[in-house]
Amino acid sequence: MPEQRVAIVTGASRGIGRAIALRLAKDGRHVVAVARSEGPLNELVAEITAAGGSATAKTCDLADSGAVTAMIESVVSELGRLDILVNNAGITRDNLILRMSDDEWDDVINTNLKSVFVACRAAARPMMRGKFGRIVNIASTSGLVGNAGQANYAAAKSGLTGLTKTIARELGGKGITANTIAPGFIQTDMTKDLPEQVIEGVKAMMAVRTLGTPEDIAACVAYVTSDEAGYLTGQTIAVDGGMTMC
Ligand code: NDP
Repeated sequence: MPEQRVAIVTGASRGIGRAIALRLAKDGRHVVAVARSEGPLNELVAEITAAGGSATAKTCDLADSGAVTAMIESVVSELGRLDILVNNAGITRDNLILRMSDDEWDDVINTNLKSVFVACRAAARPMMRGKFGRIVNIASTSGLVGNAGQANYAAAKSGLTGLTKTIARELGGKGITANTIAPGFIQTDMTKDLPEQVIEGVKAMMAVRTLGTPEDIAACVAYVTSDEAGYLTGQTIAVDGGMTMC
């Protein structure tokens, strides 16, 4: 069993999840990097290992509940412990409410909300056994204040805050904390196709007047998942350059 804390990071093949994985590995965690694409995960593991860290890649389609449970169980049986769970993977299927299909709704709810419930349920027992746990669910400011064209996404992300607060209440006495981090606009594949006009409008809404970076989110995750953050739980932390301030 590794001495170091074991951290699962979903959606680690690119963007925010990749930055979180790199940061947690740099901070001495054994990182289990999860996504569907094997190649980028293997590249990430090689990068972490070359820098002196330790990591494992696991491919998993998080939209498949059985696969999520099996992935968590395999981590615990192979590594003997699970200390940190960062549910970061997410998708968008944007459409106005009048046009949104059932499939667009279901895809986003399954990947962005149901998979998180399933992963937290599977992680709870091993974390209780270890008398320690740090759960971080990556939500969005869309879930805090809504966003036209994102009824499915905003509902899923808003759902994460209620799920997380409930987990915090249920498991707080077992040494397990659960928090939500809500990024604003971060420079990743998810936002790279937004028209320049939209980006400029977004920047104007932010106190700091710039888009965030994946590393900005990773720095917050690093603190919230640290041993010293045991008194921080049930919170929703908006890392959004002062866009929402709610
Ligand atoms: P990206 O689109 O860049 O990356 C998404 C990640 O999720 C990829 O690693 C992808 O891996 C993984 N993923 C998607 N679907 C699945 C699935 N079914 N099974 C397993 N893995 C999956 O997104 P970002 O890095 O921008 O976003 C990360 C998180 O932050 C998301 O939850 C997003 O909603 C949230 N967020 C992002 C914001 C932004 O401005 N970028 C703002 C607010 C919130 P693969 O395709 O290999 O499976």
